[in-house]
Amino acid sequence: MTILHNLPTQDLQALDAAHHMHPFTDGAELAAKGARVITRAKGVMLQDSEGVDILDGMAGLWCVNIGYGREELANAAHAQMQQLPYYNTFFQTSHPPVIALSQKLAELAPGDLNHVFYASGGSEANDTNLRLVRHYWATKGKPDKKVIIARKNGYHGSTVGAASLGGMSGMHAQGGLPIPDIVHIDQPYWWGEGGDMSPEEFGLARARQLEAMIHEVGPDNVAAFIAEPVQGAGGVIVAPDTYWPEIQRICDDYDILLIADEVITGFGRTGNWFGSQTYDIRPDIITTAKGLSSGYMPIGASILSDEVAQVIDHGGDFNHGYTYSGHPVACAVALENLRILQEEQIIEKAAADTIPYLTEKWAQLADHPLVGETVNKGLMAGLALTPDKAARAKFASDPGTVGFRCRERCFANGLIMRHVGDRMIIAPPLIISRDEIDTLFERAVQSLDETLSGLKTDGMM
Ligand code: PMP
Repeated sequence: MTILHNLPTQDLQALDAAHHMHPFTDGAELAAKGARVITRAKGVMLQDSEGVDILDGMAGLWCVNIGYGREELANAAHAQMQQLPYYNTFFQTSHPPVIALSQKLAELAPGDLNHVFYASGGSEANDTNLRLVRHYWATKGKPDKKVIIARKNGYHGSTVGAASLGGMSGMHAQGGLPIPDIVHIDQPYWWGEGGDMSPEEFGLARARQLEAMIHEVGPDNVAAFIAEPVQGAGGVIVAPDTYWPEIQRICDDYDILLIADEVITGFGRTGNWFGSQTYDIRPDIITTAKGLSSGYMPIGASILSDEVAQVIDHGGDFNHGYTYSGHPVACAVALENLRILQEEQIIEKAAADTIPYLTEKWAQLADHPLVGETVNKGLMAGLALTPDKAARAKFASDPGTVGFRCRERCFANGLIMRHVGDRMIIAPPLIISRDEIDTLFERAVQSLDETLSGLKTDGMM
C-alpha cells in the first residue's frame, strides 16, 4: 500500500506546504522552496519522490540503528496488532509485550538499572524523570531537594519540561522557558570554549562547575544532574577524558541523582550498548528512546536503579503516566529490534570493525582546509568548520550560515549530513558497511570542497 503514490513531487510539496507544520523549521522559507519528499528506504539508503538515492548519514534522527527495511519488525507489529493492538498499563493492568520488554531492558541495561517506566519518546521520558526525581526526594523526606542541574547546549526534548532541562537558548527564548528550579552549567566543548587550557584542564574545570553550582543552590536543594554522555543535537560534543570521572565523583559526594540521557547514545551508538558503559559512569536513571525500536515505532523509556524504583514503589501513587506508556505494538517492535541487535551482534561487529574504520577516516577530514577539530565516539561524529584552524576561529557570518551551505552541498551530492551551527555531524545506521562508509566520505569531501570554493567565490573566506 502506498499513500498518494501517483502524485508528482510538486503536488506533494504544495499539499505539504498547505497543511503540514514542520518541527524546527521556518515554514515560510520551506513553503517557498518545497520539502524533499522521502518515499522509501532500505539499509542505509533513502529514496526521494524523484527516485534519487541518498545515503542517510544521520539514521533518520539518530534512531534507525538496525537500518531501514527489516521485515521482522513489520511482522512483529502486524502480529501484535492482530492479537492486542492496544491496552494500557494503568489501573494495575499489564500485557505480555510490556512484561517481556521490561525484562529484556533490565538484562541489557548496566548495573542495577532494572525497572522501566515507558513513554512515547525521549521528551516524555525526560518529563517523567523530572517529576520522578522530585517525587523520589520528597518520599525520602527531603522535599527541598528539587533543583535539577543541566547543561547549556544540552538537548533533552521539546516538551515544556524537557526543553527546560535542555540548554538551547533558541528554545528558551520561545514560550518563557525554563520552568523554575532548573539551572544550567556550561558544556565541556573544548574546541569552541576551551581557550588556552589543555583539554584535560578544561574537562576538569567544566565538571567542577557542577560542584560550584551545587554550592550556589545549596546541596540540600539539588535533586539531580542530567546530561547526555555525548551531546548529540548540540553538535556531537565529546567531553575531554577528565570530565565524566569528575562528574561521577561530584554526584556521589553530594548525594544527587545522575540521569544519563541516552536517547541517542543508547543501543549501540558509542560502540557499547550504552554510553554509560563507554564512559564508565553509574547513572541512577537512564533515558532511552530512538534506538530502542530503531525508530520503527515511537517509544521511550526511563530505566531506574533498584534503589530509585524501590523508593518510588513505596511512595504511594506516582501520579504520572501516558496513554501510550508501554504500548503493546511499540513494545513488540522494540523487542524484535533488540533481538536483532543482540543475535546479529550488530553493536559488537561495529565496535570491532566499522567504528575503527570510520574513526580513522573521520580523523583524516581534519586535513581539509575548511575543517578544524574532528571528533567521534563510536558511530556519532562531528567536525567544526573554520576559516582558520590554528586559531580555532569562527566565521564572520551569522553562526550556521556556512554549516547550512555545507549541508545543502551534501544534499545535492546524495548525503544526509546535518549541520549544528557551523559544525557538521553524522550518526549513520550501525549496520553501515565499509563500502558505504567510503561512499559517505567521498560525498562528504566533495561537499566540503564545493562549500570551500563557494565561500571563496562569495568572498566569505
Ligand atoms: N534527549 C536526547 C539526548 C535527544 O537527542 C532527543 C531527541 N533528539 C530527545 C531527548 C527527545 O526525544 P524525542 O524527540 O523522542 O522526544
